[in-house]
Amino acid sequence: MYKILVSACLDGHPVRYDGKDNALPSLIWKKWQEEGRLISVCPEVAGGLSTPRAAAEIISDKESSNYLEVMTIEGETVTQAFRHGAQLACDLAVKEEIKLAILKANSPSCGNEEVYNGQFSGAKIPGQGITAEALNKLQIKVFNENQLEQAEQYLNLLEQEHLSKQSVANES
Ligand code: SF4
Repeated sequence: MYKILVSACLDGHPVRYDGKDNALPSLIWKKWQEEGRLISVCPEVAGGLSTPRAAAEIISDKESSNYLEVMTIEGETVTQAFRHGAQLACDLAVKEEIKLAILKANSPSCGNEEVYNGQFSGAKIPGQGITAEALNKLQIKVFNENQLEQAEQYLNLLEQEHLSKQSVANES
């Protein structure tokens, strides 16, 4: 059975910067929970940050768009904690043989398509969070909570491929 790495806040853990969660009222999610597929991780907490904590955003180089630092709204640099958490999430993904992840949209750790622009203005720019980017480098497909149907289709595809490989192996 393929397991799915998920943002702990989506799985109902109160680990957001403000001490809340982002639990999903979703039937697909509930089914995956019951199947024992979901492996939760909060990269920011794993990286050593406390809950609640100051909101943080990625600061990018204006010309190249390369990531420079992750800073809190109070001006503290937390890049190292974010990178450490991303590494621990990747280690967990490798250990659990993860092929897909569902992470919280827009987060500086977990966002898979957009992140806040580093100005703490609520504006978003195209880009990935630190953990989402690290998982992508491991060829793990990252979806967000608004893409559950796509994630389910991808999971079905993985399982079909696995079954057909097994049946070829059984015939030979
Ligand atoms: S780091 Fe990811 S899992 Fe943790 S609170 Fe932020 S979005 Fe949720």
